[in-house]
Amino acid sequence: VVRAWSVIVHGGAKTIRPERQIHNRTGCETAAAAAQAVLEGGGSAIDAVEAAILAMEDDPTFNAGYGSVQNADGDIEMDAALMSGVDLSLGAIAAIRGVRHPISVAKALLQDKAVLLVGDGAARYAAEIGAELRADSPPAVPSDEACNTVGCVALDNAGRLAAGTSTGGLNGVRAGRVGDSPIPGCGLYAEDALGGVSFSGDGESILRLALAARIMGDLAALDVQAAVDAAIAQMGRVGGEAGCIALDPRGNAAFAHNSEHFAVGTADPEQGVRTFLNQKEFLDG
Ligand code: ASP
Repeated sequence: VVRAWSVIVHGGAKTIRPERQIHNRTGCETAAAAAQAVLEGGGSAIDAVEAAILAMEDDPTFNAGYGSVQNADGDIEMDAALMSGVDLSLGAIAAIRGVRHPISVAKALLQDKAVLLVGDGAARYAAEIGAELRADSPPAVPSDEACNTVGCVALDNAGRLAAGTSTGGLNGVRAGRVGDSPIPGCGLYAEDALGGVSFSGDGESILRLALAARIMGDLAALDVQAAVDAAIAQMGRVGGEAGCIALDPRGNAAFAHNSEHFAVGTADPEQGVRTFLNQKEFLDG
């Protein structure tokens, strides 16, 4: 199938307690609908991914932006990245503090020579571009949902792909710790001719396996569902949980995870917005 546009979002690879499932579905639905509005209006894949992630960064359900978890020092350090499949432009920030929307700082960086800024330098760049500051910490959200990063991949009706990620990292990690989310070839990647991917999960494991890069390599030969399944199967080599979403250049969506749940939303012109809490729901259609 060739779709005019398509989007897939995720709200983390994790176990979702029954009473939290509705929040995860609603959050993914809202994010997918925000991207849909951009794409239906003829907007770009980059703007669609930003729109979806903006919604999730403001939703305390997710460990990104407002809902970010604290590190071992009790501080909130966030990572985010945005990549364009058109020209492989990339903006990424790591261990940034004090901003409301890390994804928008990453987006601004798409125009800059630097690809990845960290810590104080990232915060200074955010101040230079007038990025909004974050509100106080949100009310404590039950944080048995370990991996809770958000991500999005979109295809626009000009055939452009984009992928993004945003995260508060993992609960209680060392100050300065950076996971897979802002690292190209690990937490995300996009290239118009091949597809786009975005991950959640145990960042150290995803980094060690360079999982996004593996999927991009496989997409030349495998269909998108087989490529994401193969990537998640690699997790057995290093341990840990992960989930990944992907689109191929025709807008076919796929996802895979070895966590109990993976909160996902999709939207395309034929099927509108749909949400899933695991792969079986999706494959059973
Ligand atoms: N992958 C993220 C990290 O390791 C965490 C997550 O997916 O929740 O920073």
